[in-house]
Amino acid sequence: MSELTLRKAIIATSLAMNALGINRGKSGNVSARWKNGFLITPSGLPYEETRPADIVFIDMKGKPTGKRLPSSEWRFHHDIYRTRREAQAVVHAHASFATTLACLGMDVPAFHYMIAVAGGNNIRCAPYATFGTQELSDHALKALSDRYACLLANHGMIATGDSLKRALALAVEVEALCEQYWRALQIGKPAILSDAEMEVVLEKFKTYGKNTNKQRAPR
Ligand SMILES: [Zn+2]
Repeated sequence: MSELTLRKAIIATSLAMNALGINRGKSGNVSARWKNGFLITPSGLPYEETRPADIVFIDMKGKPTGKRLPSSEWRFHHDIYRTRREAQAVVHAHASFATTLACLGMDVPAFHYMIAVAGGNNIRCAPYATFGTQELSDHALKALSDRYACLLANHGMIATGDSLKRALALAVEVEALCEQYWRALQIGKPAILSDAEMEVVLEKFKTYGKNTNKQRAPR
């Protein structure tokens, strides 16, 4: 993929994030690994007005290159690429249901087996820290250990993936799970799946959605 194609894909992912209803306005941000760093959406520019040249490159030392300032949340994107070799893309959104639970500081337990898409038997909520700070990044990295997604207290959520498509799909899935958990909490106490059952599910998920015979699976 060329750099221009990737810059366009980052904008398309940002627009899709809003079109899919998991983010609104200028909140949130999207990045993808590129060479010895990553490309990220700029600070404070509506996605509809963002052009490929507005996307900012940041190297692994945290040095930005571009005509605009990077998203104020570049620190956790930077730390994710620095410490998680498998991460190729990061989507950060202020999705309504995820953010609602995050405002209560709640981890999302295994109330549904699909929690396994985030990599474990729960989706953790990182403690609150001011947006854009190293402290927030440190909390996020901890909540993301052995996971591909987390909530950020009083803020939103982060989803990572081996492509922009997969990071976006995970963000959508996390928001759906948060909505379902929120709804279940309205009318009762959801039953939580045991760690043993989640082990079984996580094992099955190792092949879930993967194509073993290298042919495109029917949808
Ligand atoms: Zn944010």
